[in-house]
Amino acid sequence: MDIFDKIIAGEIPSYKVYEDEDVLAFLDISQVTPGHTLVVPKKNVDNIFDYDEDTAKKVLLKLPVIARAIKASDDKITGLNIQSNNGPSAGQTVIHSHWHLIPRYDDDNLNSVLAPTIDNSAHFSSEQYQAIADSIASQF
Ligand code: 5GP
Repeated sequence: MDIFDKIIAGEIPSYKVYEDEDVLAFLDISQVTPGHTLVVPKKNVDNIFDYDEDTAKKVLLKLPVIARAIKASDDKITGLNIQSNNGPSAGQTVIHSHWHLIPRYDDDNLNSVLAPTIDNSAHFSSEQYQAIADSIASQF
């Protein structure tokens, strides 16, 4: 069981923003920018090379829906990067497919999201994580 399986099973807590039968979306603990969300298939799919057609449809069709909710959650969000690292050589550290939805702000000074190795977790309290998650979740 990888760490995202444990989050899906509720064995490890997370700040959920969206859930249905096939997909879970929750805040990335690292918060590259505020609202940084991971979208994961509940099915244990390792990476992009491992998706069957049905799972791809169910997960990928949710990306615009969740992206819009993130954008609507904060009027300072002016853009959003979507990134998925596939395989250790591409920077994948958790071997359970996931899509980084990284909101962008005009003043975020972020140079690259190509490998989201930035860790801002020290700057967020549990109340702040919860407030961001609630604000996104309320958009559905
Ligand atoms: P990767 O490097 O595989 O593309 O992304 C893995 C992501 O998972 C990282 O951005 C990291 O911050 C996030 N992550 C790792 N462990 C946890 C966890 O226990 N909870 C949450 N919410 N995010 C995690």
